[in-house]
Amino acid sequence: MKKSMMFLVFCAIGLMVFLSSCSTNTNVTPVATTETASETSVMSTTTTETMSDTNEHIHSFGEWVTTKEPTCTETGEKERYCSCGEKQTQTIAAQGHSFGAWNTIKKATCTEEGVQERVCSCGAKETSAIPMIDHHYVNYVCDVCGKVNASEGLEYSLKNNTYIVTGRGSCNDSTLVIPNEHNGKPVTAIGKDAFRGNSFVNLFIPDSITSIEYGAFSHSWNLKSVTIPASVTHLGDYIFDFCQKLEKATFMGSVDSFGQGMFYGCKALKEITLPSGITTIGDSAFLFCERLTSVTIPEGVQFIDSFAFCDCKNLSTIKFPSSLIKIDGYAFNGCNKLNTIWFQGNRSQWSKIAIDSDGNSPLIKANIKFN
Ligand SMILES: [Zn+2]
Ligand SMILES: [Zn+2]
Ligand SMILES: [Zn+2]
Repeated sequence: MKKSMMFLVFCAIGLMVFLSSCSTNTNVTPVATTETASETSVMSTTTTETMSDTNEHIHSFGEWVTTKEPTCTETGEKERYCSCGEKQTQTIAAQGHSFGAWNTIKKATCTEEGVQERVCSCGAKETSAIPMIDHHYVNYVCDVCGKVNASEGLEYSLKNNTYIVTGRGSCNDSTLVIPNEHNGKPVTAIGKDAFRGNSFVNLFIPDSITSIEYGAFSHSWNLKSVTIPASVTHLGDYIFDFCQKLEKATFMGSVDSFGQGMFYGCKALKEITLPSGITTIGDSAFLFCERLTSVTIPEGVQFIDSFAFCDCKNLSTIKFPSSLIKIDGYAFNGCNKLNTIWFQGNRSQWSKIAIDSDGNSPLIKANIKFN
């Protein structure tokens, strides 16, 4: 058995050598010596068939053998042989990259796209953009880029390359959010009478605003509370007069003046934090602020003008700064509940303050406490 097998193999090799001479292929490569026994026997069979065919050889190819592995980007090659030595080669398509998961290289923000990258085992990298994300508004301002989620449709006028917001225009928002920029330029002022007689409930003033002009929010009858940012350094007169639902007003910074009628007729005003930097509480500034129970006049104020707190019927406590020089007539007229005055100076300083006694009897009757 063993001998006859060897004999057959020997004959097969002999035949192959013989038949290779019939090939026209000059690039004959010997059959891979690593071929398995079964493949060898297939070739033998083929040879036998060929032999039985009257001299006409029909190629019968073995298995494809890869001679060059394809990569991600380059083609490979494979070949197969007939027992006659005829070789066929074929291209193996490039495999294409096989990328891993995307890795964020740079996070997207509300102003810039992000970047992500993925890598193939071959080392090739691919990057792509991550779309911008929405602004993250906290109290109307994006805490990433500073953009204000502003009301739209407002009216503006351009002056010295900055915008003044001059009116409501088509805006119907119940929360009026003044923008910090318009057409790429800063909005720095709220113009005269800009929002007079409007019905918004909430108001946001951004820190681009440096000036609020006369009557800007006058008679805004639904306005509940307002915070004036520290950026505001100029205030006109009568800005909030007759905002009858206004309960709370806070000035964050220092302004040049606190003029006439600022909160005149604000019947609901309970809490007021005055700005620093002022020397005068203007005429009628708090006239008819019936809900006001206590007020602190900031240090630096020298003058309290006529009717400043007139008819603040519930005002019971007031704190005066040591800088005070003069209180005009009727400043505290009708403040019948006024009982305590805290003075930040001493008795001798107090005695030097020029108090017009006309219409100021509540002030004169109140207890004075020195600090
Ligand atoms: Zn052949
Ligand atoms: Zn690759
Ligand atoms: Zn943003």
